[in-house]
Amino acid sequence: HLSKRLLNVAKLVPKGARLADIGSDHAYLPAYLALKGQIEFAVAGEVVKGPFQNAQQVVRAQGLNEQIAVRLADGLAAIEASDQIDTITICGMGGTLICDILEKGKDKLVKHPFLILQPNVGEKNVRNWLDTNGYTLVNEMIMEEDGHIYEIIAAKYTATKPVLTDKEAIFGPYLLNERTNAFVKKWQKEIAKSETVLAQLTKAKDVPVAKKQALEAKIEQIEGVLNGKS
Ligand code: SAM
Repeated sequence: HLSKRLLNVAKLVPKGARLADIGSDHAYLPAYLALKGQIEFAVAGEVVKGPFQNAQQVVRAQGLNEQIAVRLADGLAAIEASDQIDTITICGMGGTLICDILEKGKDKLVKHPFLILQPNVGEKNVRNWLDTNGYTLVNEMIMEEDGHIYEIIAAKYTATKPVLTDKEAIFGPYLLNERTNAFVKKWQKEIAKSETVLAQLTKAKDVPVAKKQALEAKIEQIEGVLNGKS
């Protein structure tokens, strides 16, 4: 049942974790982890009724009611103090939404759970949120599935000051060093997209010079990274 994407997320969940999977939809991730005996307990949080009911159904069908609490709630409001959650996964949504959920739910982060985040876009926002909130990136993955390239970012709380450069926030400090095939492909696509936009801007009238320059700078930065310049 589990996608390669969520399998990779599952690999980063510590053994014996008390997990909150926020935006769980079918609760596939916590169900998989519970069946494998990899977690002790999970909350599957959903803000939308349909997905919430999907999650309830999966959990019931697998006989996991004791181990997984399915809750209809907005973001981290699904978490109760007595759950003693030590790990949170938020997967399959935009980076801005992930940051909003973390920001709005700060009162649920006082014990500083381990965070595993899988933004579909806007990874830079996610890294910057982690970096400015005392979290240190400990693991990153980039992978391709069904023509989509996904990034997974894991971070633990270290109460440290921000350390990421702009370039690291954009590309990922670990991904930048590894430069895997998926990484190269993602950023080649990004260059192609930017070049298309740039060509359109060049044909159009009254486009501010700064706008074109920003795109040119972006392309140059990506090319620099792909060519291994620092
Ligand atoms: N996490 C699963 C995965 O990665 O396959 C499901 C991803 S699905 C595309 C995103 C889910 O997040 C949707 O079911 C949506 O209802 C839920 N969601 C969006 N905003 C949310 C919020 N503020 N709180 C809880 N769930 C939310």
